[in-house]
Amino acid sequence: MRNPWVLFLCIVVSVSNLVAQKPDKPSSSEIYHDLQKLNFLGTALYVAAHPDDENTSLISYLSNEANARTVYLSMTRGDGGQNLIGPELRELLGVLRTQELLAARRIDGGEQRFTRANDFGFSKHPNETLKIWDKDKVLADVVWTIRQIKPDVIINRFNHRTPGSTHGHHTSSAMLSMEAFDLANDPNAYPEQLDHTTTWQPKRIFYNTSWWQYGSRENFEAADKSGMLKLDVGVYYPDLGLSNNEIAALARSQHLCQGFGMMTSRGTSEEYIELLKGDMPKNNDLFDGINTTWSRVAGGEPVGAILNNIEANFNFKDPSVHVPELVKAYQLLQNVKEPYWQELKSKQLKDIILASAGLYLEASAEEGSTTPGSTTKVNLEVVNRSRLPISLKKVELIGGNTSISPNSTLQNNEKQNLEISFEVPVSTAYTSPYWLNKAGTLGTYAVNDQLLIGKPETPSALTATFFLNIGGTEIAFDKPVVHRFSKPEKGELYEPLAVLPAATSRIDEKVLIFATAESKDINVKVRAGKNNVAGNVSLKHPAGWSVTPANIPINIPQKGQEVTVTFKVTPPNSDSEGIIAPLVTIGGKTFGKELVEINYDHIPKQSILMPSEAKIVRMNIQKSGEHIAYIMGAGDEVPESLEQIGYQVHLIDTDDLQPGVLDKYDAVVMGIRAYNVLDDLKYKQPVLFEYVKNGGTMIVQYNTAGRWASQFENIAPYDLTLSRDRVTDENSEVKIVAPNNPLVNYPNAIKESDFDGWVQERGLYFPSQWSSEFTPILSMGDEGESATEGSILVAPYGEGHYIYTGLSFFRELPAGVSGAYKLFANMLSIGKSEVKKESNVKG
Ligand SMILES: [Zn+2]
Repeated sequence: MRNPWVLFLCIVVSVSNLVAQKPDKPSSSEIYHDLQKLNFLGTALYVAAHPDDENTSLISYLSNEANARTVYLSMTRGDGGQNLIGPELRELLGVLRTQELLAARRIDGGEQRFTRANDFGFSKHPNETLKIWDKDKVLADVVWTIRQIKPDVIINRFNHRTPGSTHGHHTSSAMLSMEAFDLANDPNAYPEQLDHTTTWQPKRIFYNTSWWQYGSRENFEAADKSGMLKLDVGVYYPDLGLSNNEIAALARSQHLCQGFGMMTSRGTSEEYIELLKGDMPKNNDLFDGINTTWSRVAGGEPVGAILNNIEANFNFKDPSVHVPELVKAYQLLQNVKEPYWQELKSKQLKDIILASAGLYLEASAEEGSTTPGSTTKVNLEVVNRSRLPISLKKVELIGGNTSISPNSTLQNNEKQNLEISFEVPVSTAYTSPYWLNKAGTLGTYAVNDQLLIGKPETPSALTATFFLNIGGTEIAFDKPVVHRFSKPEKGELYEPLAVLPAATSRIDEKVLIFATAESKDINVKVRAGKNNVAGNVSLKHPAGWSVTPANIPINIPQKGQEVTVTFKVTPPNSDSEGIIAPLVTIGGKTFGKELVEINYDHIPKQSILMPSEAKIVRMNIQKSGEHIAYIMGAGDEVPESLEQIGYQVHLIDTDDLQPGVLDKYDAVVMGIRAYNVLDDLKYKQPVLFEYVKNGGTMIVQYNTAGRWASQFENIAPYDLTLSRDRVTDENSEVKIVAPNNPLVNYPNAIKESDFDGWVQERGLYFPSQWSSEFTPILSMGDEGESATEGSILVAPYGEGHYIYTGLSFFRELPAGVSGAYKLFANMLSIGKSEVKKESNVKG
């Protein structure tokens, strides 16, 4: 498999063009590498659960060293993760992480696929995962991917035999892969897929094992490896000046929102894959026994004869000399009857023809967005940088609705610029991730179009097709319409051309709490997607609430401009919650979407259309105290949430924590992971405890236990041991174990029903041991596990109170969960007014 001439300059190009969406401009070395891949007819599928699970070393090795078509199937798009580079969370984070995977694949040479599974949050066991995911749908999607991609070998990232030892999503990905290996060739399994594809039996399936599976490197060294293949993923590619693992690190460093920017590494590096099903390959060759030459496909041999000859005698100085033979191979390839290879190899070969001839084709719109029904001007650039006889017959936009037929000869290096105006058909779908178009369930996206399932992103709606005559043969080349522009501080930039609604709207606050019956002014921002948008805006609202005025007229002259209109919203007297949704009506058509743009340097700009709405909650919430000091940790929205129920929250730096400074506050609250991220906080504990001793309230939210044990030696005034205990099922049963404690009585009476409607989880990193001064308030546990009482602990200290809680208030408050607000208000109110004496009563 190893060929010393393997060249990977494409990686260098990809890395230097970090601003995605730029066209590929391959050098002759890259063309040669692509030719090697063209002459290998084998496919590998790598299977895991999340963006960043994938072993980029192995993916790069399969793609670049083995030359296989290599696909990473990630069950989810990673919506449940955290974001270290921006505000995108949940669905929007899934969009960002999808694009980071695509950016990684542009570097390591792989392709990307997904199932409809949603990354709903942590689960301890695959049983929980597969219940929430809708196992049958996700299994169908794995089978669908195998049938479409037709892998010879499958490699699982995770072990299907060890449920409970890692994230339930991980084990589930491996279990589903094993099942799908057996089902993909069965015509009775998911027969509806067979309208679009054929059954397929992969030859073998492996598990990408590692020493950590064996407890130690020594154990692994001693283990029987007769059922494993050993691959050197540290191979060096001299013509690139890069090792395979250096490429892998560059790919992995695209996962920036997860903080995966990393150092490159060099030198021999072993990767082991353990055979799970199929026959054991000989010679350490995972494609052993599979015909990976052109003779694999009927009619392929004459194509291979030409292409192998070009590879053997490749002209690095002038690849254009090969174009006539490449075109001949392309013609012969059209006779190949197997659609899988015919389509895949035609696409690869067309790219090689374009690159070898130095042909540059671009369709660039004047603006970055348009709307259905609008006329858009597109600049076409065509240049032939070879001496070959090539002519431009025709250019079609969006499947022939509009075309231009210059019929001109393309002289060597003489650029042709053409302009074409076309009307975007009224029926054109908006640019937005297809899996977000309809509301799905907690565990699965709603996608009904079988042909979209699995695709990494929505196919471009606006495409230009260039019909070229190359030495007497007509070949059509598709290019998505882009928007090319420049910025003085960034240079030349490319964006996808977005198709957007004539108007979008948004309410900035996604959750609005009405703690009293008082009305609130709600601002709605309306953005025009085209010039001269005139109409009116209304606000849909739940029964029992009132909104004035009913309609507000708008008139926006300029595309891209935004106006703000204000509605007065009045809640009912009793508890109530629902959704308000702005509706913009223009000429009898109603628009109800919010436009969210995601724009980072390492991915193409994303335009996402979400339902334009906000949650409104009327809760009769009582509280004591007014001024709260908040020490921000890793970052959360708890201060904004507390302000919504009438508290004044003051953000305090650790430097400000001097004796006496806190006396004017009714409580001091630590943001999530404060002791993890604020190194000096542990030295401020004497000041904080002194404040509590004098009658203050100190509330500490969750910190991650483990490596940082020394940071927690004095986290509380009494002994308290943090652990990794968590309750991940947001619907798990909660029992009040201290029913007389003020935390569940004053000023709000907490009932077990206040734990209904929580989101994502109950809480995490609960303390596992505490001294007798602490009173546990609640008991909870995931199914099949013993309950823990560490979720909220309160202790008197001097005249005041210390509370430690791992409950996920940072998720529940921004989601408008009223029970969580009541409990938080009670924590802030402890020790105030008449209940002060009862605070030591244990439950
Ligand atoms: Zn993972």
